[in-house]
Amino acid sequence: MNKKILIIEDEVNIQELLRYNLEKNGYMVAISDNGIDGIQKALTEVPDLILLDLMLPGIDGLEVCKKLRRSKQTKKVPILMLTAKSEELDKVLGLELGADDYITKPFSIKELIARIRAAMRRIGEENTDEIPEGEKPKILKARGIEIDHEKYEVRKNGEKVVLTLKEFELLKMLVENNGKVLTRDFLLDKIWGYDYAGETRTVDVHIRHVRQKINDEEGSSQMIETIRGVGYRFISEGER
Ligand code: CA
Repeated sequence: MNKKILIIEDEVNIQELLRYNLEKNGYMVAISDNGIDGIQKALTEVPDLILLDLMLPGIDGLEVCKKLRRSKQTKKVPILMLTAKSEELDKVLGLELGADDYITKPFSIKELIARIRAAMRRIGEENTDEIPEGEKPKILKARGIEIDHEKYEVRKNGEKVVLTLKEFELLKMLVENNGKVLTRDFLLDKIWGYDYAGETRTVDVHIRHVRQKINDEEGSSQMIETIRGVGYRFISEGER
């Protein structure tokens, strides 16, 4: 069955551009031009993915995102935020409120479709992941990196890489969330704990060490991507 995408966007031109291209790519499309109606549609139709504009009349995209994340029906529906450039802070907020990814306007359709597919793939993987703990793969693999949960060991192209515990947890978190941007605050909370009084620079320093140890050099093949002003993400094959 065709996947359904709900577009919550007030600009008619963008609505139509999105509808045309999404339908061309085999998606079913529903459109809403404001936040309140968007939430209603999301709750009743439960789409497979939501494209959510940040700047909406009435209640804005962040508020919509927060509400959708709190509702049982839409808690797990991937949300891709559409933002205008130079809204770094909003991006961070959006991600912390539970958006899965964001894309800045103007965007290329090709990139948008790739992001949609990646978000849907991630949710599919998460769902098939709900198997008993004992049956989960104990070794996580991506781009020549192997992470052994049980032995706390990392190998790159078969060779052992010695990481500290925090470095190990940081790399594991990034690889597990493959393709998803993780904010510095999120990483601090998850890895260092809520009561950690340090600053987000700690994350940057650890990332630098991890990169050195796994030989992750800057350039087109870099695995850990820096999202300026926001955080980091691990890029798997073919996502670039
Ligand atoms: Ca708008």
